[in-house]
Amino acid sequence: MTISHLARAIAESPTLKLNEEARILRERGEAVIHLGIGEPKNKAPITAILSAAAKISSGDVKYSPPDGTPSLKKAIIRYTEENYGRYVAPENIVVSSGAKFSLYNLFYSLIDPQDEVILLAPYWVSYPEIIKMVNGIPVIVTPEDGSFHPRFEDIEKAVTPYTKAIIVNSPNNPSGVLYRQDFIAQIVDYCERKGIYLIMDDIYHKLVFDHKTCPSPYQFTAKDIENTKIIVVNGVSKLYGMTGFRIGWVVTNRRLASVLHNIQAQTESCPSVVLQAAAEGALSGMQSVVESLRLTIENNRNVILQELKTVNGIRVIPPDGTFYCLPDFRAYSNNSVELANFLLRKAFVVTVPGREFGMEGHLRLSFAGSIKDIMTGIERIRWALDPNAPSEIYIGDRRMVRDWL
Ligand code: PMP
Repeated sequence: MTISHLARAIAESPTLKLNEEARILRERGEAVIHLGIGEPKNKAPITAILSAAAKISSGDVKYSPPDGTPSLKKAIIRYTEENYGRYVAPENIVVSSGAKFSLYNLFYSLIDPQDEVILLAPYWVSYPEIIKMVNGIPVIVTPEDGSFHPRFEDIEKAVTPYTKAIIVNSPNNPSGVLYRQDFIAQIVDYCERKGIYLIMDDIYHKLVFDHKTCPSPYQFTAKDIENTKIIVVNGVSKLYGMTGFRIGWVVTNRRLASVLHNIQAQTESCPSVVLQAAAEGALSGMQSVVESLRLTIENNRNVILQELKTVNGIRVIPPDGTFYCLPDFRAYSNNSVELANFLLRKAFVVTVPGREFGMEGHLRLSFAGSIKDIMTGIERIRWALDPNAPSEIYIGDRRMVRDWL
């Protein structure tokens, strides 16, 4: 059996791999705490469930248009108007099975071999792999040590004649940082002038804390939707905690949207009508569910920051949004993969190595889970690493004694 060079070059998704490892350990009866996962504990909004159930009960479960049902598009048009101040047409929207597929489809449609896409470190793990899958080259811009905010000058320096797009994810997975408004304004202006696509991965744009808000990128351009280089990617996964419903979308100019439509028609045919009905139900239902999820996650953020203070030597930049923080563990190890494995083996805590996000020496910790998991997870990390912590701990109903410090 021969496998293509391209497929062989694609790395496994580290977060999905960790989920699998954690599942196996749990099945073995280990009391695993999962600080790796990026999905909250909430139930899907009732309007989403009822809408999906009604679609199934109708028995009329067929193909939809490749780029989404007209009624879901209507709900996305309303969402775009309310949250981005832009009125777009159905032809500007392409719905996919999750924002991840939206991104794949976008890169497939934009990238010729050797074209470059600029990523801002720390970046979401899947960006480099998706870009490589379409023969593109990820170009990484890293902020100065101790900051998660790249400098605009460094982005400018990374641009070459091959630069096709810049991708910005704010608030950011994995750091939780919300990029400054003037920074976004500068990038928008730069991309419009240079004719470089600016892909705004806005999947967490409502999940921000401390009364901050995520600005609409369109406010920084005078160009209309058909002429702007801004492309917005969004979805229901994080907005409503509906990760399993797999609905994402792209808002862009009609020409690019029609290409995305064609690619989609030849690959997934269309997103499932049942899941589209669920997304429509969520978008059209009571939006207080978003605020209540946001408040829960903000409270979790406060708890994890408080708990991390008890671990000596860890430095953490407080996240402004998302479910994640990315503490600096270099006081304990410069090798984040080894450190994450050590914590899983010794303390049964799942974390994600910062190396996967372009930030070696850091670990991504998710605070999407329960307060109890956050507190127990950090207590175990402290026990495993910090010589000042008591040397005994209970993991499940087993008393464990630390004998490696
Ligand atoms: N972008 C970012 C930054 C993400 O963190 C995720 C999900 N982890 C996605 C896109 C994909 O979301 P979806 O579940 O809609 O595919």
